Amino acid sequence: MNITEKLPEVKNYINGKFERNGQNFLDVINPSDGSIISTVPLSTFEDVDKAVQAAARAFTTWSDITLKERVQIFFRYRTLLEKHTDELSKLVQLENGKTYDEAKAEIEKSMELCEFAVSMPQIVVNEVQEVSKGVECRIERKPLGVVASITPFNFPNMVPHWTIPIALVLGNTMIMKPSELVPLSTVRMADLLKEAGLPNGVFNIVNGGKEVVEAICDHPDIKAVSFVGSTKVAKIVYRRSTSSLKRCIALGGAKNHLLVLPDANPEMTASNVVASMTGCAGQRCMAASVMVGVDNIQHIIDRMVEDAKKIVPGENLGPVISEEAKKRIEDYITEAESNGAKILLDGRNTIVSGKEGGFYVGPTILDYVTPDMSVAREEIFGPVLSIIRAKDLDEAIEIENGSNYGNAAAVFTQSGGLAKQVMERASAGMIGVNIGVPVPREPFSFGGWNESKFGVGDITGRSSIEFWTKNKKTTIKWNPEAKTNWMS
Ligand code: NAD
Repeated sequence: MNITEKLPEVKNYINGKFERNGQNFLDVINPSDGSIISTVPLSTFEDVDKAVQAAARAFTTWSDITLKERVQIFFRYRTLLEKHTDELSKLVQLENGKTYDEAKAEIEKSMELCEFAVSMPQIVVNEVQEVSKGVECRIERKPLGVVASITPFNFPNMVPHWTIPIALVLGNTMIMKPSELVPLSTVRMADLLKEAGLPNGVFNIVNGGKEVVEAICDHPDIKAVSFVGSTKVAKIVYRRSTSSLKRCIALGGAKNHLLVLPDANPEMTASNVVASMTGCAGQRCMAASVMVGVDNIQHIIDRMVEDAKKIVPGENLGPVISEEAKKRIEDYITEAESNGAKILLDGRNTIVSGKEGGFYVGPTILDYVTPDMSVAREEIFGPVLSIIRAKDLDEAIEIENGSNYGNAAAVFTQSGGLAKQVMERASAGMIGVNIGVPVPREPFSFGGWNESKFGVGDITGRSSIEFWTKNKKTTIKWNPEAKTNWMS
């Protein structure tokens, strides 16, 4: 596929076929220059229902083959991701705006997620024990049936892979609802899954927005819903899908705090903090958003400002996703300035020559932010770092603990004892020590705390196996002379 041309319209993918549907369409915009690159349908309950029926039919045969057979398809699929890395990276770059290297890192992470899924026969070994002489108990994991995955705009390739390989390998069939802002990458996933040998109906895509999400939450034949997006919508999806008696895991937004201590290595700290706040234009749920500087760390701040100046919009910094997002981010900066924050680096009104229609915000560093300001409390989702000054580590931890969110937190120090205090006392699901983006690598699981995640367990790793399966417990006795106890 030549992705420099305007792409064909996005279609739903049901039972192994792309289908045109709907009355209403949205333009898909390239955030780097504001151009229209495709259109996406806004599907309805009827479209979801059609996909669910196809997935339910496919479930009968897909769940009946062995785990070892199902993983073969994902071995092949992982190889196809590798073979098409360049093309898939360019597609992510086109629809999301992130840099090529950032997009490529997504595909690499998607491959790693497939590697976890194909190791499932090594992990999901059912349990059996002779509980009385001649009497055996066993536990087997069974798939749930038709499940759904709803994803955000910021990782068009990786976030769908948090769910697709694991849920499908475990025997479920799926309805995928990608973000309507970035629906193109998922289309290629459908192609490549088919090429890898996935039977029709096992993976389906229904495009659209709120109406599709609501239909997924309400549909009586969908057994489980995985959601990744903002906290506002995560709460809606969690409440609505659990009230219709589904299991749900809903990952929400973030406000990650990096605690910088005066003994931190200045060079490593500055480069890590800047990379964390500017990577993917700050549109990562693991991005640094607040830096809490303990005592005198002026030398590190000075170095950070110098490092951040080397992050240039249109070169090594992509745009934010939309005009609306650019305005929201710039309004936050303006509000903080009027409330007394000192702007060390100002990314407002950025225009990239030759890409005047793009939605760029330059790296922005705000100093002397106070914990009550909205830039300190709310998710900005742009390349903006707010620095709060704290007199000691206790105060810094208190500031971190005060956030409603709890995705990630990090500490920069050379003291093991102080790092340990933050590891123990920070109220976040993922902690970094001298690492600005503490994303666990597989097989370690991904998931935050507080308002960054609703539901039990994490979205990847071992607890995802619990999420996508149910246990069947069987007690067996064949020989009449078996020794029985009080309950057999
Ligand atoms: P979003 O919540 O706006 O959208 C996510 C999904 O929900 C999309 O598929 C969208 O179509 C749908 N949606 C939007 N509004 C809806 C509504 N009112 N009712 C029902 N469905 C609705 O999120 P986004 O802007 O696409 O993504 C950015 C957000 O995702 C940020 O808050 C970011 O922190 C979060 N995120 C979190 C994680 C995590 O692991 N915790 C990972 C990636 C992104």
